[in-house]
Amino acid sequence: MKSATKDKTPAAFPPNPGSEALAAEILEVLKYRVGKDTTVATPYDWLTASIKAVRDRIIDHWISATKEAYEQQEKRVYYLSLEFLIGRLMRDAFSNFGLMNTVREALASLGVDFDVIAALEPDAALGNGGLGRLAACFMESMATVDIPAHGYGIRYANGMFRQEIQDGWQVELPETWLDHGNSWEFERRERAFEVGFGGSVESVTDKEGRLERHIWKPGERVLAVAYDTPVVGWRANRVNTLRLWSGMPVDPILLDKFNAGDHIGALAESNKADALSRVLYPADSHMAGQELRLRQEYFFSSASLQDILQRHLSQYGELESLPDKAAIHLNDTHPAIAVPELMRLLMDVHGMDFDRAWSITGRTFGYTNHTLLPEALESWPVPLFERLLPRHMQLVYAINAQVLLEARATGRFNDEQIARISLIQENGDRRVRMGNLAFVGSHSINGVSALHTDLMKKTVFADLHSLYPGRINNKTNGITPRRWLFQCNAGLTALAREAIGDRFLDDIEAIRDLDGFAGDAAFREKFAAVKRANKVRLAELVARRLGIRIDPSALFDIQIKRIHEYKRQLLNILEAVALYDQIRSHPERDWAPRVKLFGGKAAPSYHNAKLIIKLANDVARVINGDPAVRGLLKVVFVPNYNVSGAEVMMPGADLSEQISTAGMEASGTGNMKFALNGALTIGTLDGANVEIRERVGDDNIFIFGLKANEVAERRSGGYQPRAVIEGSPELSQALSAISSGVFSPGDPDRYRDLVSGLYDSDWFMVAADFDAYAAAQRTVDDVWRDPHDWNARAIRNVARVGWFSSDRTIREYAKDIWNVPA
Ligand SMILES: *Cc1c(COP(=O)(O)O)cnc(C)c1O
Repeated sequence: MKSATKDKTPAAFPPNPGSEALAAEILEVLKYRVGKDTTVATPYDWLTASIKAVRDRIIDHWISATKEAYEQQEKRVYYLSLEFLIGRLMRDAFSNFGLMNTVREALASLGVDFDVIAALEPDAALGNGGLGRLAACFMESMATVDIPAHGYGIRYANGMFRQEIQDGWQVELPETWLDHGNSWEFERRERAFEVGFGGSVESVTDKEGRLERHIWKPGERVLAVAYDTPVVGWRANRVNTLRLWSGMPVDPILLDKFNAGDHIGALAESNKADALSRVLYPADSHMAGQELRLRQEYFFSSASLQDILQRHLSQYGELESLPDKAAIHLNDTHPAIAVPELMRLLMDVHGMDFDRAWSITGRTFGYTNHTLLPEALESWPVPLFERLLPRHMQLVYAINAQVLLEARATGRFNDEQIARISLIQENGDRRVRMGNLAFVGSHSINGVSALHTDLMKKTVFADLHSLYPGRINNKTNGITPRRWLFQCNAGLTALAREAIGDRFLDDIEAIRDLDGFAGDAAFREKFAAVKRANKVRLAELVARRLGIRIDPSALFDIQIKRIHEYKRQLLNILEAVALYDQIRSHPERDWAPRVKLFGGKAAPSYHNAKLIIKLANDVARVINGDPAVRGLLKVVFVPNYNVSGAEVMMPGADLSEQISTAGMEASGTGNMKFALNGALTIGTLDGANVEIRERVGDDNIFIFGLKANEVAERRSGGYQPRAVIEGSPELSQALSAISSGVFSPGDPDRYRDLVSGLYDSDWFMVAADFDAYAAAQRTVDDVWRDPHDWNARAIRNVARVGWFSSDRTIREYAKDIWNVPA
């Protein structure tokens, strides 16, 4: 047995070449690989040259890590995710390599400003929000805690759309992040696998007529070509691989069609292959039912599994040991089709029988559930599934038969429960339930916060949990402190080093040592100065992008995340409207100046979310333009929220808005980023907020509103939002201002759907929580008025949230799910 923890080498960066040597390397790359000399080099050329120069150094570590994993026969982790929201990589890689200052100096000696070229790096937005960002943090943490790991996904030519705000409305524009090439990646033409779709299944029988095996004859085939990006862990402990697949035609041009004069038809294959890696579906927490999405899911799952099996076979020569040498993780149900795909490969290609294959499959896969929202739970119509993946349909039926047999054999389940366990949903149109498929094909199913895991056991997976007790476990999400503290908040990092030394750089939980400084007046002053500088930087971004001036001495109250009704940006906007009315009615009161910042994208087809963006912008225009407000309240919607934007917004926040309807946010990770950067949270007892409160303490967080069980009770107990609204003068006033067109002059009906939704059903309990929320905001004002008190609480937040590091999360996965040392 290998020991559960690895020997730790002393904390040190790889040898530093010095800025002169690095400058020479950058010049060399500029000349011979970019093909420019310094007189004609554009800033973009300098960016390319800098990345490639450092990348060359990374490659040595990359190769040696790969070799070591091979020689030591280490178990590898394969993280399958349809999304990796990585953002910019340059700072990450340079800083983890310990080369940040060296690169800065090297470039300065060449007359180039690092920050100018850094801003040119495209923000790789191959994800929607939290789920994709989690995958990116996990990749960095796996490299940091020294786990041999590969991430597998799709190299979308167009990732998340770019959001512009025109006349207050969201407009979506394509994001073409690959326009100038991608200096980080390596194309691996030799690493290409065929992926099939459609066609038919043939059965092969032996001489006695017994079924020997099934052979799938796909009607279409495409190639998946690998593109590899190195992922550098902290201090370059290890460099892992993010392998993204791109679709290529098997036959780029169909010559027979071309020769017959059908020049467009001759390109049909090419276009179909291209479509697979063209766009990321832009809906967060909502299942996209299109056929292309199922094709994408199968495309990347199949290519990844073929790659994994080939690697395993070439090293070990057999597949029985797969579960001992490979842990394959499913990030949500998007790659759940990998379960029947592994069965197909083991049975149809490698000749195993069902039972062996099923045993190997279950011991190899783990699955993370990310949401309980019914509209987000994936299921596919049986006819579509059968047409696109006929062999997988057979295997799903075979797996289902096995599972239902087991369930009936226990004698514990009635017909209704059996129907819920089934992989096939039978009421209405018949659909394949991808959550159930991922569950039965995995030995571990985890939720992403304590509350979410508890609700999983009680709701969606109650029956499967009863059939397979012990499989469900919790792994509370985390964030990488490298990006979300060291890189985005250099000021706070330097201050912490000065106060408590460098231990927290390698063990973020040691940031606890700052706790004692909350009572130190001199330290609080320094802390406040760092926060102020970060707010100035954020104010400059707002001025540059929007031409709006915000005062860094005001309270910066920030809600940035995908726009979704359950996240309740509407609650925040309504409170702003109510506060606006209060400021005008009571100008004599001592109002604490506040800036409310919003950011986030709405799924293009999500009507209400887009309306909420328009409302935020309408409210901003009226409030910011009203002299009676005297600058005491400003509202700003910052367009195109993405990872790079988050890196400026998080450090500049005083107040973090985490106000989802309790029971609906699985975990949240934005909440963790804010707290680590010294913002206080106003939030509900939802997702990881519950655990953040346990760690920072009740006095250092503003909790309000219904709890998850109370939301459930209200919903089932005849909740009457109209009565609640009528009982709240502030809310009534805010809603009537909106309905009467105060914010939409000439178009009073613009928000009729939003407002009537609150009166008639209010599924998200906005009205039910409004008064509690407004009261919590006034408590926030009271604390804010005492800067010593506020800063002490903020420092305690920083000190006490080191546990929410993705290093900790990954170590838990390694120990409890993957069985790998970390
Ligand atoms: C962290 C992050 C998220 C997730 O935010 P939540 O508040 O947890 O929903 C979404 N988008 C970006 C760009 C992020 O960095």
